[in-house]
Amino acid sequence: MKITDIRTMRLWGPRHHGVGGGTGAKIGKVIVRVDSDAGIYGLGEVDDFVGVRQAVAYMRDYFRGRDPFAASAIFSEMLYGTPAPHPENSPHGVMRGGMSAVGMCSPTATPWGPVVWAASGVDMALLDLAGKALQTPAYNLLGGAFRDRVRVYLDRSSPAEISKPTAWRKMARDVVDSGFTQMKFDIDFMASDCVSDVWNRALPLKQINRIVDRLGLVREAVGPDFEICVDCHMQYNVPDAVRVSNALEPLNLLWLEDPTPITNPDSCAEVRSRTRIPICVGEMFIAEQFRLFVDHRACDILHPDVLFCGGPRELRRIADYAELNHRPVAFHGNGGALATIAAAHAAAASRNFLGLEYHFIETPWIGGYVQRDVPLFTDGHVVLTDEPGLGVRLNRELCRKHLAPGEELIA
Ligand SMILES: [Mg+2]
Repeated sequence: MKITDIRTMRLWGPRHHGVGGGTGAKIGKVIVRVDSDAGIYGLGEVDDFVGVRQAVAYMRDYFRGRDPFAASAIFSEMLYGTPAPHPENSPHGVMRGGMSAVGMCSPTATPWGPVVWAASGVDMALLDLAGKALQTPAYNLLGGAFRDRVRVYLDRSSPAEISKPTAWRKMARDVVDSGFTQMKFDIDFMASDCVSDVWNRALPLKQINRIVDRLGLVREAVGPDFEICVDCHMQYNVPDAVRVSNALEPLNLLWLEDPTPITNPDSCAEVRSRTRIPICVGEMFIAEQFRLFVDHRACDILHPDVLFCGGPRELRRIADYAELNHRPVAFHGNGGALATIAAAHAAAASRNFLGLEYHFIETPWIGGYVQRDVPLFTDGHVVLTDEPGLGVRLNRELCRKHLAPGEELIA
C-alpha cells in the first residue's frame, strides 16, 4: 500500500466554553485525511495553530508514494534526520514551495513546534488507515486494550461570575450530574478579580485566599471523593506557586498543573519538593521533554496531548516511559471529537492511565464532527468500540455547516 495524498479541511464555529467562563469566542478545528492507493483513507485532527497546515502540506510531498505502515520510520527521518546513505525512497532536493529536503538536516528535522503538531494529526490518520486496512481497532495496534472505556475529565476553567458562590456550586454540581468524576479549574482565572499586576508572576495573598475560598465551595458541592485538579498555565514564580499549593493542600487535589514556566525543570522540581500536591506537567511536551522533567524529579504525573506530542503512538511511548518510572499519565486534551477518540484508543492501551481531558461539552459541533454508533461520552467515559481504525466517520452535514470560508469537504 502507498500513500497517495494528504489533505486538510478547516472547520469554524462558536466556542461556548472559554477560559474564565467566556462564551463569545470562535474557534477553528482542522481535519486531516490521508489517502492510499488501496482506496482506504484515514482521518486525523490537528490544532488550528500557526504553521500547522503549512507543515501538513510539506508532509504531503514527503509521505506521498511511501508505505503508510512505515509511519514511525518516516516521522523519525523527518523529525530527526538520518546519516547517509539515506533510504532510497526518502525525498531529497527542492520540494514544492521551494523548501529543500535533506535527509540529515532537513528544515523539518526538529521535533518541536508546528512540524510535530502536524505530524501528530498525520500519525492519527495513518493509525486510522492501518486499522482499516487490517480490519482491527486502533487500540489493538497500540498494544491492546487494558480497558473498554476511558475516563474523561472536564476542564471547567472557572464560571463567568467568579465572585458568586452559587456560580461555583452550580458549575461543580453540573459536572457531577452529567456523570463525570474528575474536573479541573484554572488558578489564573479563579480569582482574576484580585490580580494587581499581570506581569510579575506573583499571586498576592488576597488572590490566593479567594482561590482557596472558591475551590472550597467546589469541594463542598461535590463531596470528599470527587477528583479535582488545578492548572497554573506555567504562569507563576516558585515562592508563590508553593504558597498557593500549600494553601490548597487541605482540599485533597489530584494534581497541581504546570506551576512555573516550563523552560526550567528545576523550578518545577523545587515547587514539587515543597508541596504535598502531586505535580502534573507536559501538555505541550514531546517525549524527550518528559525525560528531562522525570530526570530532574520535577513531576509526579505526565500529561501529554495527542495533538502536540507527535500523535497516538507517541502518547503510548510516553505512557510507557511514565510507567517505567512508576508514574501515572493523564492526557491533556485541547481537541474535538476526533482527537479525543484517538487519545482514548491510546488511553485504553496504557496501563497507567488516569484521565483524558475534554473542554467542549457546551459546544456540540466540536464533539460531533465525527460520528460513531455510540455517543462521544457515556457516564463520563469514552466507550471504545470494535470498529476498525479509530472507528469514526465524518459527519458531512455538520462539517458542511461549519466549513471555514474557502474550504471544501474532504470526505
Ligand atoms: Mg494545562
